[in-house]
Amino acid sequence: MKKQIPYTYDALKNEINEFRQKFPGLKVSSIGRSVWGKELFCIQLGSGKTKILYNGAHHGMEWITSALLMQFVGAYLDAEQSGKSLSGFNVAALSKRATLFVVPMLNPDGVRLSALGLPANLDFATKQRLLRQNGSADFEKWQANANGVDLNHNYDAMWQRSKEMETEYGIYSPGPTRFSGPHAESEPESRALADFTRDNKIDLAIAFHSQGKVIYHGFLGKEPGNSLKIAKAFTRISPYQLDNTDGIASYGGYKDWFVDKMDRPGYTVEVGVGQNPLPFSDLPKIYAETLPILLGAMTVA
Ligand SMILES: [Zn+2]
Repeated sequence: MKKQIPYTYDALKNEINEFRQKFPGLKVSSIGRSVWGKELFCIQLGSGKTKILYNGAHHGMEWITSALLMQFVGAYLDAEQSGKSLSGFNVAALSKRATLFVVPMLNPDGVRLSALGLPANLDFATKQRLLRQNGSADFEKWQANANGVDLNHNYDAMWQRSKEMETEYGIYSPGPTRFSGPHAESEPESRALADFTRDNKIDLAIAFHSQGKVIYHGFLGKEPGNSLKIAKAFTRISPYQLDNTDGIASYGGYKDWFVDKMDRPGYTVEVGVGQNPLPFSDLPKIYAETLPILLGAMTVA
């Protein structure tokens, strides 16, 4: 018996449809498809010169980040439509200044596995493979995509180092977490996000994960000069603190790749605190904590 209602791909699709009805002209696209053919939705807010990207749910059991980003999108659109401010920010001015792309759920298959377990319609071989890779029929702690590749270890940022470090963690094959894949950007989800980021020349990116109430910035000192300044600004307007990644978490991540290859400020924000998957009931608190960052980032880049 689950203690909570997870935020699934179907919940996301329903909420996007509600927003489409409520806010005619809303720009929703898909940047690609997951291994199991699910759309990787992207919602556009604003139309300004500075290009910003937020993404959620690289990891299956971190679906609360998808719910968080959608709550933000809804509040932003409400404020824009009514001409009101949001948490002291003039939304109309933000929309003129920046274009924000929100990819709320990069890993819908992983979310599916964590939230609801194996899909009933899977073919026998795939089912057996996933059971073997997971080592159990309980998929609640599943982080990877449907191939058993951890998407946040699959980017071209010292990827080989991430690969080498797998054995230190006892990882030799695809599974629920930390397997980097056969090569960088081998997965349709990570490839789609990297392509979208490159094509749109994103100026600032934040990847939302759970949990820890911390912000990671930079990558091996390769970050641009304004990276730390912006990170420090985030810690002044939110209760989240700066932290440094170490070990395997330092390589092959989206933020790492963004800093390394795009040479622009990129961040990982670990929302909330507790055991993943965080319960849905934590969302109001997480939203209140991160709203200043979600809005503030649109003013700094
Ligand atoms: Zn994560």
